[in-house]
Amino acid sequence: MGVVSMKGGDGEHSYANNSEAQKSITSDAKPEVMKSVNEMIVKMDFPGCIKVADLGCSSGENTFLVMSEIVNTIITTYQQNGQNLPEIDCCLNDLPDNDFNTTFKLIPSFHEKLKMNVKGNCYVSGCPGSFYTRLFPSKSLHFVHSSFCLHWLSKVPDGLEENKKNVYLRSPCPPNLYESYWNQFKKDFSMFLRMRAEETMPSGRMALTLVGRKTLDPLSKECFKDWSLVSDSLLDLVSEGVVKESDLESFNLPYYSPDESEVKEVIENEGSFEIKNFETIFGLLFSYKTGHSEVKDDDDDVDHSRRFEVVKTRANMTRSIIEPMLVAHFGEAIIDRLFDKYIYHACQRYDTLRNKPTVNFFVSLTRK
Ligand code: SAH
Repeated sequence: MGVVSMKGGDGEHSYANNSEAQKSITSDAKPEVMKSVNEMIVKMDFPGCIKVADLGCSSGENTFLVMSEIVNTIITTYQQNGQNLPEIDCCLNDLPDNDFNTTFKLIPSFHEKLKMNVKGNCYVSGCPGSFYTRLFPSKSLHFVHSSFCLHWLSKVPDGLEENKKNVYLRSPCPPNLYESYWNQFKKDFSMFLRMRAEETMPSGRMALTLVGRKTLDPLSKECFKDWSLVSDSLLDLVSEGVVKESDLESFNLPYYSPDESEVKEVIENEGSFEIKNFETIFGLLFSYKTGHSEVKDDDDDVDHSRRFEVVKTRANMTRSIIEPMLVAHFGEAIIDRLFDKYIYHACQRYDTLRNKPTVNFFVSLTRK
């Protein structure tokens, strides 16, 4: 379970240093998050204490970028309405193996970014545990945020014995493999909603961003391309005798990217939350940083070295996400080589991959 955690620390391959793509999608969702916080406050009539949770905060600054938006929205809303500022309780959750220390070191700079006055009123705490279990007391939460987490399942689904050469679904895939993944997602996401339904106050809100897929057809080529590149790289290492074939055959990711109708179906069937807004946010597979700004590769004449940089950025992101899972199964020794292969395959397929958008869903929910 713990291996789902991203790579900690602040080194070259850490999540903290390789999560620009997630940051950029999360900032696209910001206006909707702010709107939801504002509506919640008015509906609850300016509570004296507001408890906010970021589920799956990981390590690094992303959680604070969101939390500072939420806290600043709370302050502005109270000020504009002539209300005394509330106390704000910010709870940062992730699995116990997460590198919370790297995150906690950023608390002082988070406090710096908050609007005046609130420093003494905003309390940050860590809450280790799986969000597929209860994490907070009943009816205690006002606002729940979670980005880039809910595509991670609580476990690898059962029944994937036939999925030998791939680490995830890949076209053409037998329907029973798709069923195994979809059933596990249904079970996990329903459980997530049930647990949060117990913890949130009436009229409490949730804002969720997750990786999705476009089409209704699970067997289509819309399956997550990073994982196909990882599968092909592992296959290379098998043919070079570096990875045992049986190790590849028994490795599957506890991951599922649902389509819009699947997300809605689970929410509607579970029944505790009403969908206020559902948006698709497209990203690009390949984008990279220069200095402080992010360059998206929507430019036609990308030269060779730039192409390599762009692919390497994606490889590092993928690595920061799944290195702990790969190390737990295959050992540390293969990792550098594996991602050299990843870069090779991604460069080979550059022209087909570069215009393919990544699909992300933003869902705003209210507790019925
Ligand atoms: N929210 C951050 C980090 C996303 S990375 C951002 O948007 O950049 C996904 C995080 O989800 C990882 O840190 C991982 O450990 C966490 N995660 C996955 N499954 C989890 C679970 N069951 N409970 C709590 N956290 C989980």
